Amino acid sequence: MEPVKTVENVAFNVLKQAVIYLPDDVKQALKKGYAEETSETGKTQLRAILDNIELAEKSQAPVCQDTGTIIFYIKAGAKAKNLDKIEEAITNATRRATNNIPLRPNAVDPFTGKNSGDNTGKYIPFINWEIVPGDNIEMTVMTKGGGSENVCIGGMIVPGEGIKGLKKFVIDAVIKAGAQPCPPNILGIAMGGGADISMRLAKKTLLKPLTEHNPNPEIAKLEEEIFEAANMTGIGPMGLGGKTTVLGVHIDYAYRHPASFPAAVAFNCWAARRASARIDASGTVEYLTHKLEW
Ligand code: SF4
Repeated sequence: MEPVKTVENVAFNVLKQAVIYLPDDVKQALKKGYAEETSETGKTQLRAILDNIELAEKSQAPVCQDTGTIIFYIKAGAKAKNLDKIEEAITNATRRATNNIPLRPNAVDPFTGKNSGDNTGKYIPFINWEIVPGDNIEMTVMTKGGGSENVCIGGMIVPGEGIKGLKKFVIDAVIKAGAQPCPPNILGIAMGGGADISMRLAKKTLLKPLTEHNPNPEIAKLEEEIFEAANMTGIGPMGLGGKTTVLGVHIDYAYRHPASFPAAVAFNCWAARRASARIDASGTVEYLTHKLEW
Protein backbone atom coordinates (compact mmCIF):
# COMPACT_ATOMS: atom_id res chain seq x y z
CA MET A 1 0.00 0.00 0.00
CA GLU A 2 1.14 3.52 -0.72
CA PRO A 3 2.82 4.76 2.51
CA VAL A 4 0.64 7.91 2.76
CA LYS A 5 -2.49 5.77 2.47
CA THR A 6 -1.16 3.64 5.36
CA VAL A 7 -0.85 6.78 7.50
CA GLU A 8 -4.41 7.78 6.57
CA ASN A 9 -5.77 4.32 7.41
CA VAL A 10 -3.92 4.20 10.72
CA ALA A 11 -5.21 7.68 11.63
CA PHE A 12 -8.74 6.49 10.83
CA ASN A 13 -8.27 3.33 12.89
CA VAL A 14 -6.89 5.08 15.98
CA LEU A 15 -9.76 7.57 15.81
CA LYS A 16 -12.26 4.72 15.65
CA GLN A 17 -10.56 2.83 18.49
CA ALA A 18 -10.43 5.95 20.64
CA VAL A 19 -14.07 6.99 20.32
CA ILE A 20 -15.51 3.49 20.83
CA TYR A 21 -13.16 1.75 23.29
CA LEU A 22 -11.89 3.53 26.38
CA PRO A 23 -8.35 2.50 27.33
CA ASP A 24 -8.14 -0.35 29.86
CA ASP A 25 -6.57 1.79 32.58
CA VAL A 26 -9.55 4.19 32.45
CA LYS A 27 -12.07 1.33 32.56
CA GLN A 28 -10.25 -0.25 35.52
CA ALA A 29 -10.19 3.08 37.40
CA LEU A 30 -13.94 3.53 36.82
CA LYS A 31 -14.60 -0.01 38.07
CA LYS A 32 -12.48 0.66 41.17
CA GLY A 33 -14.39 3.91 41.71
CA TYR A 34 -17.68 2.01 41.48
CA ALA A 35 -16.52 -0.62 43.98
CA GLU A 36 -15.34 2.01 46.47
CA GLU A 37 -18.02 4.70 46.04
CA THR A 38 -20.12 5.08 49.17
CA SER A 39 -22.70 7.56 47.85
CA GLU A 40 -25.77 5.83 46.47
CA THR A 41 -26.27 8.47 43.76
CA GLY A 42 -22.57 8.41 42.91
CA LYS A 43 -22.67 4.64 42.53
CA THR A 44 -25.72 4.85 40.26
CA GLN A 45 -23.89 7.32 38.03
CA LEU A 46 -20.80 5.12 37.83
CA ARG A 47 -22.99 2.09 37.03
CA ALA A 48 -24.58 4.06 34.18
CA ILE A 49 -21.13 5.07 32.88
CA LEU A 50 -19.87 1.45 33.02
CA ASP A 51 -23.01 0.16 31.27
CA ASN A 52 -22.61 2.86 28.66
CA ILE A 53 -18.99 1.79 28.01
CA GLU A 54 -20.09 -1.83 27.53
CA LEU A 55 -22.93 -0.83 25.23
CA ALA A 56 -20.62 1.31 23.08
CA GLU A 57 -18.26 -1.64 22.59
CA LYS A 58 -21.09 -4.06 21.77
CA SER A 59 -22.77 -1.74 19.31
CA GLN A 60 -19.51 -0.27 17.93
CA ALA A 61 -20.78 3.24 18.61
CA PRO A 62 -18.95 6.19 20.18
CA VAL A 63 -18.88 6.04 23.97
CA CYS A 64 -20.17 9.63 24.19
CA GLN A 65 -22.26 11.70 21.79
CA ASP A 66 -19.65 14.47 22.11
CA THR A 67 -16.85 12.92 20.07
CA GLY A 68 -14.65 15.86 20.95
CA THR A 69 -12.09 18.06 19.27
CA ILE A 70 -9.58 15.94 17.42
CA ILE A 71 -5.99 16.37 18.50
CA PHE A 72 -3.08 14.31 17.19
CA TYR A 73 0.36 13.88 18.73
CA ILE A 74 2.94 12.75 16.20
CA LYS A 75 6.38 11.50 17.14
CA ALA A 76 8.09 11.63 13.80
CA GLY A 77 11.41 9.90 13.28
CA ALA A 78 13.79 12.42 11.70
CA LYS A 79 14.49 9.90 8.94
CA ALA A 80 10.86 8.91 8.30
CA LYS A 81 9.60 9.42 4.76
CA ASN A 82 6.62 11.52 3.60
CA LEU A 83 6.46 13.69 6.72
CA ASP A 84 5.17 16.55 4.58
CA LYS A 85 2.09 14.46 3.68
CA ILE A 86 1.03 13.46 7.19
CA GLU A 87 -1.14 16.52 7.79
CA GLU A 88 -3.14 15.84 4.64
CA ALA A 89 -3.46 12.13 5.53
CA ILE A 90 -4.78 13.02 9.01
CA THR A 91 -7.26 15.52 7.59
CA ASN A 92 -8.54 12.91 5.10
CA ALA A 93 -8.82 10.33 7.89
CA THR A 94 -10.78 12.80 10.02
CA ARG A 95 -13.26 13.44 7.20
CA ARG A 96 -13.68 9.70 6.64
CA ALA A 97 -14.10 9.04 10.35
CA THR A 98 -16.71 11.78 10.65
CA ASN A 99 -18.74 10.15 7.88
CA ASN A 100 -18.19 6.49 8.60
CA ILE A 101 -18.04 6.01 12.37
CA PRO A 102 -19.74 8.58 12.54
CA LEU A 103 -18.38 11.44 14.64
CA ARG A 104 -20.31 14.50 15.68
CA PRO A 105 -19.16 17.50 13.62
CA ASN A 106 -17.39 19.61 16.24
CA ALA A 107 -15.40 22.18 14.27
CA VAL A 108 -16.95 25.65 14.21
CA ASP A 109 -15.56 28.87 12.72
CA PRO A 110 -15.36 31.27 15.70
CA PHE A 111 -16.15 34.29 13.48
CA THR A 112 -19.12 33.03 11.52
CA GLY A 113 -20.38 30.31 13.87
CA LYS A 114 -20.54 27.99 10.87
CA ASN A 115 -19.82 24.31 11.49
CA SER A 116 -17.53 22.83 8.82
CA GLY A 117 -19.52 19.60 9.12
CA ASP A 118 -16.51 17.29 8.91
CA ASN A 119 -14.39 18.05 12.02
CA THR A 120 -11.80 19.92 9.99
CA GLY A 121 -11.01 23.64 9.81
CA LYS A 122 -8.18 26.06 10.48
CA TYR A 123 -5.64 24.21 12.72
CA ILE A 124 -8.17 21.39 13.28
CA PRO A 125 -7.49 18.51 13.64
CA PHE A 126 -4.63 19.99 15.64
CA ILE A 127 -1.28 18.25 15.29
CA ASN A 128 1.42 18.37 17.97
CA TRP A 129 4.76 17.49 16.37
CA GLU A 130 7.80 15.99 18.04
CA ILE A 131 10.88 15.03 16.05
CA VAL A 132 12.67 11.98 17.45
CA PRO A 133 15.60 9.85 16.23
CA GLY A 134 14.87 7.01 13.80
CA ASP A 135 12.45 6.36 10.95
CA ASN A 136 9.21 5.32 12.72
CA ILE A 137 6.06 7.41 12.99
CA GLU A 138 4.19 7.14 16.27
CA MET A 139 0.71 8.55 16.17
CA THR A 140 -1.60 9.21 19.13
CA VAL A 141 -5.05 10.70 18.97
CA MET A 142 -6.98 12.36 21.77
CA THR A 143 -10.59 13.27 21.16
CA LYS A 144 -11.21 15.96 23.72
CA GLY A 145 -14.68 16.55 25.09
CA GLY A 146 -16.05 20.09 25.19
CA GLY A 147 -17.42 19.95 28.74
CA SER A 148 -14.04 19.09 30.21
CA GLU A 149 -12.27 21.55 27.91
CA ASN A 150 -14.47 24.41 29.12
CA VAL A 151 -12.99 24.27 32.62
CA CYS A 152 -9.30 23.93 31.71
CA ILE A 153 -7.47 26.78 33.32
CA GLY A 154 -4.12 28.51 33.02
CA GLY A 155 -2.86 31.11 35.43
CA MET A 156 0.07 32.63 37.27
CA ILE A 157 0.88 31.73 40.85
CA VAL A 158 2.81 34.15 43.05
CA PRO A 159 6.33 32.65 42.80
CA GLY A 160 6.79 32.89 46.59
CA GLU A 161 3.75 30.64 47.14
CA GLY A 162 5.41 27.79 45.22
CA ILE A 163 3.91 24.31 45.45
CA LYS A 164 1.49 25.38 48.19
CA GLY A 165 0.10 27.94 45.73
CA LEU A 166 -0.10 25.26 43.03
CA LYS A 167 -2.18 22.95 45.24
CA LYS A 168 -4.63 25.76 46.01
CA PHE A 169 -4.80 26.70 42.32
CA VAL A 170 -5.68 23.12 41.35
CA ILE A 171 -8.25 22.45 44.09
CA ASP A 172 -9.94 25.83 43.47
CA ALA A 173 -10.19 24.85 39.79
CA VAL A 174 -11.76 21.47 40.68
CA ILE A 175 -14.32 23.09 43.01
CA LYS A 176 -15.17 25.80 40.48
CA ALA A 177 -15.54 23.20 37.71
CA GLY A 178 -18.01 21.12 39.74
CA ALA A 179 -20.21 19.00 37.50
CA GLN A 180 -19.25 20.74 34.24
CA PRO A 181 -16.38 18.47 33.14
CA CYS A 182 -18.46 15.24 33.57
CA PRO A 183 -16.59 13.83 36.59
CA PRO A 184 -14.89 11.58 37.47
CA ASN A 185 -12.07 13.46 35.80
CA ILE A 186 -8.41 13.04 35.09
CA LEU A 187 -6.33 16.10 35.96
CA GLY A 188 -3.31 17.04 33.87
CA ILE A 189 -1.28 19.61 35.79
CA ALA A 190 1.82 21.47 34.70
CA MET A 191 3.86 24.38 35.92
CA GLY A 192 6.66 26.53 34.57
CA GLY A 193 7.76 27.39 31.05
CA GLY A 194 5.22 30.05 30.17
CA ALA A 195 1.44 30.40 29.90
CA ASP A 196 1.29 28.40 26.65
CA ILE A 197 3.96 25.86 27.66
CA SER A 198 2.32 24.91 30.95
CA MET A 199 -1.06 24.32 29.28
CA ARG A 200 0.49 22.30 26.49
CA LEU A 201 2.36 20.11 29.00
CA ALA A 202 -0.72 19.75 31.20
CA LYS A 203 -2.80 18.51 28.29
CA LYS A 204 -0.10 16.15 27.08
CA THR A 205 0.05 14.42 30.48
CA LEU A 206 -3.54 13.31 29.85
CA LEU A 207 -2.09 10.80 27.38
CA LYS A 208 -0.35 8.91 30.19
CA PRO A 209 -2.02 5.76 31.49
CA LEU A 210 -3.53 6.13 34.95
CA THR A 211 -1.27 3.33 36.15
CA GLU A 212 1.80 5.45 35.40
CA HIS A 213 2.93 7.81 38.12
CA ASN A 214 5.62 10.42 37.90
CA PRO A 215 9.07 8.73 38.12
CA ASN A 216 10.21 11.44 40.55
CA PRO A 217 8.97 10.27 44.01
CA GLU A 218 8.45 13.86 45.21
CA ILE A 219 6.19 14.63 42.24
CA ALA A 220 4.43 11.25 42.55
CA LYS A 221 3.69 12.19 46.18
CA LEU A 222 2.25 15.53 45.05
CA GLU A 223 0.08 13.71 42.47
CA GLU A 224 -1.23 11.51 45.28
CA GLU A 225 -1.89 14.48 47.60
CA ILE A 226 -3.85 16.34 44.92
CA PHE A 227 -5.74 13.14 44.06
CA GLU A 228 -6.77 12.72 47.71
CA ALA A 229 -7.70 16.39 48.12
CA ALA A 230 -9.78 16.49 44.90
CA ASN A 231 -11.67 13.39 46.02
CA MET A 232 -12.47 15.04 49.34
CA THR A 233 -14.42 17.85 47.62
CA GLY A 234 -17.53 15.63 47.53
CA ILE A 235 -18.33 16.63 43.92
CA GLY A 236 -18.56 12.96 42.94
CA PRO A 237 -19.61 11.19 39.72
CA MET A 238 -21.33 13.60 37.30
CA GLY A 239 -21.26 16.19 40.11
CA LEU A 240 -24.07 14.47 42.02
CA GLY A 241 -22.07 13.78 45.16
CA GLY A 242 -19.62 11.12 46.23
CA LYS A 243 -15.94 10.50 46.69
CA THR A 244 -15.05 9.62 43.10
CA THR A 245 -14.33 13.08 41.67
CA VAL A 246 -11.02 12.29 39.99
CA LEU A 247 -9.61 9.03 38.64
CA GLY A 248 -6.04 10.20 38.50
CA VAL A 249 -3.60 13.10 38.49
CA HIS A 250 -0.56 13.61 36.29
CA ILE A 251 1.99 16.38 36.81
CA ASP A 252 4.70 17.72 34.52
CA TYR A 253 6.83 20.84 34.63
CA ALA A 254 9.29 23.04 32.80
CA TYR A 255 11.82 25.42 34.32
CA ARG A 256 10.35 28.86 34.90
CA HIS A 257 11.39 32.50 34.68
CA PRO A 258 12.42 33.73 38.19
CA ALA A 259 9.56 36.25 38.19
CA SER A 260 6.85 33.88 36.86
CA PHE A 261 5.14 30.75 38.07
CA PRO A 262 2.80 29.68 35.27
CA ALA A 263 0.43 26.86 36.13
CA ALA A 264 -2.21 24.98 34.16
CA VAL A 265 -4.86 22.37 34.85
CA ALA A 266 -6.21 20.37 31.91
CA PHE A 267 -9.35 18.40 32.75
CA ASN A 268 -10.31 15.21 30.99
CA CYS A 269 -13.77 13.71 31.49
CA TRP A 270 -14.53 10.05 32.28
CA ALA A 271 -14.67 9.55 28.47
CA ALA A 272 -10.88 9.91 28.41
CA ARG A 273 -10.31 8.80 24.85
CA ARG A 274 -6.88 8.16 23.40
CA ALA A 275 -5.33 5.60 21.05
CA SER A 276 -1.85 5.12 19.61
CA ALA A 277 -0.11 3.25 16.80
CA ARG A 278 3.38 2.99 15.38
CA ILE A 279 4.24 2.71 11.70
CA ASP A 280 7.75 1.52 10.93
CA ALA A 281 9.80 2.33 7.84
CA SER A 282 8.56 -0.81 6.02
CA GLY A 283 4.92 0.21 6.60
CA THR A 284 4.28 -2.37 9.33
CA VAL A 285 1.72 -1.08 11.79
CA GLU A 286 1.60 -1.86 15.49
CA TYR A 287 -1.40 -0.70 17.50
CA LEU A 288 -0.08 0.27 20.90
CA THR A 289 -3.11 0.92 23.09
CA HIS A 290 -5.91 -1.12 21.53
CA LYS A 291 -6.23 -4.35 19.59
CA LEU A 292 -7.81 -3.73 16.21
CA GLU A 293 -11.29 -5.17 16.78
CA TRP A 294 -12.89 -4.90 13.36
S1 SF4 B 1 -17.23 16.33 28.65
FE1 SF4 B 1 -16.72 14.24 28.05
S2 SF4 B 1 -18.29 12.89 28.94
FE2 SF4 B 1 -19.03 15.02 29.02
S3 SF4 B 1 -20.29 15.23 27.17
FE3 SF4 B 1 -18.22 15.97 26.65
S4 SF4 B 1 -17.12 14.17 25.88
FE4 SF4 B 1 -18.97 13.42 26.88
